[in-house]
Amino acid sequence: MNREQQKRLMGLVAMPVQWQCNLSRYTSFAIGGPAEAVVNIHQIRELQPLLGFLAHEDIPWRIIGKGSNILVRDEGFPGVILRLRGEFATVAEENTDDRSVLVRAGGATNLARLSWSCSEDGLTGLEFGCGIPGTIGGAVIMNAGAWGQEIASVLRAVKLMTAEGEVNLSAGELDLSYRSWKGFEVYQGRAVVAAAELALQRGDRHTILAYCQSLQEKRKAIQPNENANAGSFFKNPPGDSAGRLIEASGFKGFRVGGAMVSEGHANFLVNTGGATACDVLRLMEIVQDKVKRDCGVWLDPEVHFI
Ligand SMILES: Cc1cc2nc3c(=O)[nH]c(=O)nc-3n(C[C@H](O)[C@H](O)[C@H](O)COP(=O)(O)OP(=O)(O)OC[C@H]3O[C@@H](n4cnc5c(N)ncnc54)[C@H](O)[C@@H]3O)c2cc1C
Repeated sequence: MNREQQKRLMGLVAMPVQWQCNLSRYTSFAIGGPAEAVVNIHQIRELQPLLGFLAHEDIPWRIIGKGSNILVRDEGFPGVILRLRGEFATVAEENTDDRSVLVRAGGATNLARLSWSCSEDGLTGLEFGCGIPGTIGGAVIMNAGAWGQEIASVLRAVKLMTAEGEVNLSAGELDLSYRSWKGFEVYQGRAVVAAAELALQRGDRHTILAYCQSLQEKRKAIQPNENANAGSFFKNPPGDSAGRLIEASGFKGFRVGGAMVSEGHANFLVNTGGATACDVLRLMEIVQDKVKRDCGVWLDPEVHFI
């Protein structure tokens, strides 16, 4: 960005722009080089003019939610990283009939917190999210899920913001599949998930809360938490589990630099301290090659790269 572009960018948002900002602090992996600029957007009305400016000036941008499913490269990102805050984290509930409630949640809403608060309100459908450390925006893009449920099963509509304005997509128009949304290829770097509508059902509050509690306990038992990570690194291949295949290839505890295949859960690549993105990518390739040779299965990463 030239000086003039920097000045205009600063004029478009209320919060100070963070220049040459290290992205490792915004990712659960605690890895990643600097972005030219990080912009925190608190007000809904700031978003569209900002996207319009970035498109007009041809400045590349990406958005980070909680950064819990991304690996940022060591060289960083030569453009603007957006982070939704403030007004984008608001939630509203509307009764649609005696049994159903439509929950409208901003793109920055914390999924785990929303899941617990819906459970507190006696709403069922979002329990799977009670241990997922992402935002609603990230959950839509990833079609986040667990324990046989996913966001697609409760998602009714999304509001996207693009440089040209708002785009509302209904459930029927969303092409969500296992941990991915087809539209992502079209919209990456072009649209922001500003809000989502979720259709939940009324149920028994105590039963719903007890179910969430049991999911949390199961998660605690299987999920390593001693080192920074981005959750499951690879998608499960059809009919199998990536963790099982990686473990069968003998990788538990295998290291490249500061990156390691978790000893607790083989589908977690962890940062044991000071890992670089290069370490993680090298480890990923070694695992992919050996699992392919051993079992004939190519493991696709679930984690997104910036
Ligand atoms: C300990 C741990 C456990 C996890 N367990 C699970 C699990 O059980 N199930 C599961 O599915 N995932 C799990 N994850 C992964 C992760 O939490 C989810 O994928 C989550 O939905 C990602 O949300 P996020 O806000 O962190 O997205 P980010 O990681 O910040 O971003 C992911 C992608 O979404 C894009 N994005 C984010 N927000 C927006 C937005 N508003 N508009 C447009 N694009 C956006 C980003 O550009 C990026 O491409 C786990 C992660 C960790 C660290």
